Amino acid sequence: MRTWKWMLTAFLLITLSAMAQQTTDQSPTSSAAGSQTATTPAPTAQPAASQPANSAGQSAAASPATMAPPTTMDQVVDRAIQREHALMEMLKTRTPLVETYLQNLKPDPKLGPVPSEDHYFLGRLDLGQSVDRRDYLSKDESFEKNLLGGVTKMFKFEYKPMGFSWMIFADRDDFDRSHYGFKYVRREFLGDVRCLVFDVTPKKDAGKGRFLGRIWVEDQEYNIVRLNGTYSPRPRNAMYFHMDSWRLNLIPGYWVPAYIYSEEGDFSYGAKDKMAFKAQSRIWGYDLKKGAKEDELTSLRVDSVKDETPSTTDASPLEAQRQWQQQAEDNVVERLQESGLVAPEGEVDKVLQTVVNNLIVTNNIELPRPVRTRVMITSPLETFSVGNTIVVSRGLIDVLPDEASLAMVLSHELAHIVLGHNLGSKFAFNDRMLFSDESTYNNFGFRHNPDEETAADTKAMELLKNSPYAQKLDVPSLFLKELSARAPELSALLTAHLGNSFTTDKGQLTRLSALAAMGPALDPNKLDQIAALPMGGRVKLNSWTDRVELTKSAPVAIISARDKMPFEVTPFFPRLSRLSSDATTGNTSTASNRPPSN
Ligand SMILES: [Zn+2]
Repeated sequence: MRTWKWMLTAFLLITLSAMAQQTTDQSPTSSAAGSQTATTPAPTAQPAASQPANSAGQSAAASPATMAPPTTMDQVVDRAIQREHALMEMLKTRTPLVETYLQNLKPDPKLGPVPSEDHYFLGRLDLGQSVDRRDYLSKDESFEKNLLGGVTKMFKFEYKPMGFSWMIFADRDDFDRSHYGFKYVRREFLGDVRCLVFDVTPKKDAGKGRFLGRIWVEDQEYNIVRLNGTYSPRPRNAMYFHMDSWRLNLIPGYWVPAYIYSEEGDFSYGAKDKMAFKAQSRIWGYDLKKGAKEDELTSLRVDSVKDETPSTTDASPLEAQRQWQQQAEDNVVERLQESGLVAPEGEVDKVLQTVVNNLIVTNNIELPRPVRTRVMITSPLETFSVGNTIVVSRGLIDVLPDEASLAMVLSHELAHIVLGHNLGSKFAFNDRMLFSDESTYNNFGFRHNPDEETAADTKAMELLKNSPYAQKLDVPSLFLKELSARAPELSALLTAHLGNSFTTDKGQLTRLSALAAMGPALDPNKLDQIAALPMGGRVKLNSWTDRVELTKSAPVAIISARDKMPFEVTPFFPRLSRLSSDATTGNTSTASNRPPSN
C-alpha cells in the first residue's frame, strides 16, 4: 500500500514537475511546416488516444466525404467554402461559452513586454443567425458595456458581437468567391494533419471588415482548421485586431472553433504604437443544452440521501447533517457542470485526488467520506470547496510550477474541510439551483470569512509539513512570491468569482503568507528558478465535451529570463489530429455520462 502510494507520487512528479514551459511536439512529418514556432507553450489539441485515423466511415453522414475528391485547387476552394457554411449551419443551434483573457503590455528592459493590466470576459455565444452573447459576469450592465469597462475605446469595435463571430468564422455572411480571392500557397502539416494553405484576400469593393489572411484546409474533407490574419479595410476610428484561430476535430466531419490568440503592439525602437495587448480566447460548452432552464427541473437530483444511506434506520442527527451537506455539495457540483463552468469528472481529478490523498494519509486524517476534486474550466486563479469537494480552476492548474505547489493549493481547501468550515449547505434546497446559467456567479458563492481563512492557512502549513512535500516547499513559496509581485497588474486573473481570491484588491497576498515569507528570494533573472508557468500550459480542454486532461508535452529549455513568462498569455499551438474512432466512442460515452438533462 505504501509502495503504491509513493509510486504514484513519483509518477505525478514526472507529470507535474516538469519545470519549464511546455511546447507542442513537432510532428515527425512536419518538416514542411518550417514556419511553426516550436517554443510557444500551448495546449495540445486532441485526446491522447487520437490517431490520424481513417475518418471516412464515421463522417460520411456529416460531410461530403463520399464526394469525389477535388482534382483542382479551385475545387478545393469550393469545397472549403461549402464546409465553412456547413459548419455555420451545424453550430447555429449551439450556445458555447466564450472566455477571453487579455493582458495589456508594457515594455520591460529585462523581461520584454510584460502585462501592465488585464481584463477578463466570460460569456455565452449564440451562434444562431443573430449573433448574441449573454454574459456570466455582469450584473446590470450589458455584456458589451461590461466588456468595455476599463478598456479603452480601441477595443470597442472588435468586441462588437458581430466582430467576435467574425473571429470564429472567416466571414459570417459572405464567405464566397464573389467577395474573396483565394491563392494556393503550399501544403503543410499542422500536427498530424496535412493541410492545403491558401491566402485569402477580399475583392475590391467587397466592403469593410472582410477577412484578410491565410487559411489552412485539411486534405480529407476540406474543412478549415486554422485562420490567421485580420479584417480589412478598417472603418474610420476603429481597429480590428489580428487573430490566430484554431479549430479541432472533436466530432465526426467537423472542426469546431476552440482557441483564438490575438495580439497587437509594436515595441520596436521608434514605434509609436499605443495599443499593445495579447489575449487568449477559449470556446467550450458546445454540447451543453441550449436553454437549459427547462432541463433543470428534470435534472435535479434528490435521491442521493436515499442512495447512500447504508442502514435501513433513520439517520441520527449527525448523519442527517452530513447527508444534508452532501446533498448540497452534489447539487452545486452538478449545477456548475450544467452551466459549463466545471468539467466532468476525469483524468485531472485523479491527479488532484492523489495529491489530496498524500496529504490525508501522511497526516492520519479520518473523514466520514472521501474528498473529491473537480476542475473549474475558467482561467482566473481560484479554489473553493463545497462539502467534501475541492474545486480548482484550470487557469490555476496551468500556472502551478510543480506538484508541491499543487499540494500547497489543495492543502488550504483540505484544511477547510478538516476544520469543518462547511459552506453552502443552503444549496441542499433545490429551488436554489433554479437560475439561468448566466447568473451562476450571482447565485453561488463560497467565500470564507477572514478568521476561517487564517485558521485554514495555519492548518494547511501543518498538513504540508507532515506531508511528502515538506522538503519541497521552496517552489510553492516562490510561486506565492511571484503571485504577490505580479498581482497589481493581474487583478482580473486574480479575481475569484466563487471562492476567496489569492490577493486583496490592492494586490496583497491573502493566502498562506507564512509560506510566502519562507524560502529563497524571488529572482526573475535566475533561469533555474521557475516560480510560475504561463497560462495554458498544463490542461487541455475538449471544447465539445468540456472534458479536461493534462497536456503531454516535453519541457523546453529556458534560455533567457524572457522565456519564463509567469502568468502570461502566449499564442496557441495545438497539435492537430483527426478524430479517431476511439475518440468518437469516447465522446459517445461522455454524452451518456452527462447528468440527465433531457
Ligand atoms: Zn480559504
